[in-house]
Amino acid sequence: MSFRSLDEIVSKCEEQKKPFWRIILEDDMEERMVSAEESMKLMEKLYLTMKSADASYDDKLMSSSRLVGQDGARMDRAVREGKVIGGDFIGVVIAKALKMGESNACMKKIVAAPTAGSCGVIPAVLLTYEEKYQVPLERMLEAMYVASGIGEVIAERASLSGAAGGCQAEIGSASAMAAGALAYLNGGDNLSIIHAAAMSLKNLLGLVCDTVGGLVEVPCVKRNVVGAVNAIASADMAVAGIVSRIPPDEVIDAMREVGEALPKSLRETGEGGLAATPTGQEVMKHIIR
Ligand code: SF4
Repeated sequence: MSFRSLDEIVSKCEEQKKPFWRIILEDDMEERMVSAEESMKLMEKLYLTMKSADASYDDKLMSSSRLVGQDGARMDRAVREGKVIGGDFIGVVIAKALKMGESNACMKKIVAAPTAGSCGVIPAVLLTYEEKYQVPLERMLEAMYVASGIGEVIAERASLSGAAGGCQAEIGSASAMAAGALAYLNGGDNLSIIHAAAMSLKNLLGLVCDTVGGLVEVPCVKRNVVGAVNAIASADMAVAGIVSRIPPDEVIDAMREVGEALPKSLRETGEGGLAATPTGQEVMKHIIR
């Protein structure tokens, strides 16, 4: 039984005096008829797959279109050389988000979280957080359940697909999921979790899907960076006690409405926005040739 609202999850947490992640884990147990151990095992597999995808980044690869690749390595270098303005944490997050997006474009194994195009957002923030703060695996898995619960509600209430709702539904949702998970890791309560998600989604509302040449490369890879950094800012705001003035479930509804209002050319058709620029059109000709 999927949750239809974030409020519903928070109410259940309060009624049953259980943490957010536990309610989502129990929902998974009920839905897939598995034990807590089995559910955790699957979540662990997903998280460890993200980790190995990050660790096996190949800094020599370019996508077959040659539009993306090697930028994760460039960013790593800049961090090592102290050339980043936002400090090491943000620098590493940017590098990891680029690497995962590039690995996807280069057909390497990634975890769609929630989609392949947005696969870099969640691992970029969670893996960096784990590395920096030496967080035990168990707690990282709890954060993954938090992210899943947010994604589940967005999927039920709106959409996770660029074709249906534009990039706000992919990068926006991934950013909301990551923001909630980070708020949890950083000591936020249930309200912080859902307000981090809401602020994150709000910040990316209206983001269109305008893939150049119809490939999940430009602007996708770099949008993972924006989703990740936005998640950090939103989680920090939420844990500081800042709330979204529009209630979280209403933000999700607004995302659905905006997605439905987007013209088809801006929903994964590769026809509008950046895809329609002279350079985007030129790239398209080369791909078709
Ligand atoms: S631009 Fe489209 S394909 Fe690329 S990440 Fe966004 S929604 Fe996905």
